[in-house]
Amino acid sequence: MADNGKCEHNICNCPVGADEKFCSDHCREAAEQDIAEIACDCGCPGCK
Ligand SMILES: [Zn+2]
Ligand SMILES: [Zn+2]
Ligand SMILES: [Zn+2]
Repeated sequence: MADNGKCEHNICNCPVGADEKFCSDHCREAAEQDIAEIACDCGCPGCK
């Protein structure tokens, strides 16, 4: 299996490093606060 994973924010598709759960503070906060978003707003290229 690959070392890299996917951002744990459920609507986010960003790849993250093996030691990371989230691609950005946006996703970490959204997941911690259980914010329901219809589109990811993390700001990374390729993720909307
Ligand atoms: Zn995202
Ligand atoms: Zn993310
Ligand atoms: Zn992202």
